[in-house]
Amino acid sequence: MLLVLRKDIVKADLEDLLNGLVQSGAEYQLIDQGDVPIVQLSSENNSLSRERLENLPGVSHIIDEEYPYRLASRKYKSDNTVVKVGDLEIGGMNPVVIAGPCAVEYENQLMKTAQLVYSKGIRLMRGGAFKPRTSPYSFSGLGVEGLKLLAKAREEIGVRIITEVLDAGDVDIVSQYSDVLQVGSRNMQNYKLLKAVGRIRKPVMLKRGMSARLDEFLASAEHILKEGNEQIILCERGIRTFVEYSRNTLDLNIVPMLKELSHLPVIVDPSHGTGRRQLVAPMSMAALAAGADGIMIEVHPEPDKAWSDGMQALGPEEFSRLMDKIHDYLEWQKSYANPEPAT
Ligand code: PEP
Ligand code: MN
Repeated sequence: MLLVLRKDIVKADLEDLLNGLVQSGAEYQLIDQGDVPIVQLSSENNSLSRERLENLPGVSHIIDEEYPYRLASRKYKSDNTVVKVGDLEIGGMNPVVIAGPCAVEYENQLMKTAQLVYSKGIRLMRGGAFKPRTSPYSFSGLGVEGLKLLAKAREEIGVRIITEVLDAGDVDIVSQYSDVLQVGSRNMQNYKLLKAVGRIRKPVMLKRGMSARLDEFLASAEHILKEGNEQIILCERGIRTFVEYSRNTLDLNIVPMLKELSHLPVIVDPSHGTGRRQLVAPMSMAALAAGADGIMIEVHPEPDKAWSDGMQALGPEEFSRLMDKIHDYLEWQKSYANPEPAT
């Protein structure tokens, strides 16, 4: 059981409350989540009734914990969380598109991609410098050199940067060079890494594990929230199924489900979710129609020559066409939501 306390609880009431809990035999933990203090009762072996707890001075309401996440839930926070990356708002009024290469390869490839995506309105570019790869013989990223190239693109072109952090020990260096840290699918349950990104004050994009259930996904976000970092973006990137024609199966069902159960913004990655270039545009549109707060797609100046994930990367023309289509769709959606008054 969680006692959500009032934001303006006075110190004396808090002390009385905690002393009262101790005297009644309750075991508790005080969690300071943003500006809302919460008391988690881990043992209900106490002599205080629910009614009494509810009426204690300073207590706002009670949440029953029947799931492994609470700070991530809408029950705890009913307003949408809006993650701010510079001027860009993720989870706000307008869906966003994040685009860029799978991996940073070399300067010319990154700069060309940055110019291309910027010219189509992208303000947050992806690009992996530390790459998790299935085969130990595959290209695993340029590491810190890649981070420096990303920082150069940021400086020269004006795009903000999202890049993956693979290891808790790299969180500091990756944060120095980027605006948003990505925790990849393979690391969704790397609790040490989740804790480490929970301690920084930068947005984190958490990708769904490839066989993670919804409650496990939100429980992983909870690990980050519990450390005090509320700037979390959830990312659906496809799950493993028996389907063999696509790399993964994009689970768009989870988008409205997550929006219902959690206040965190949801981004869809149709590139990893499909693994096939020709499926990226239709699934991008489908993700937006399903209510996603945005999409993240892989783009490469010459996809057939990409050092990783070329099969799912869009080339300049396909990318431009998709951006035009998204733009038209969002304009239509706006006019649909706010129809012109009849004359
Ligand atoms: C990526 O986005 O670069 C990536 C490796 O994706 P995922 O973690 O979803 O496999
Ligand atoms: Mn990739």
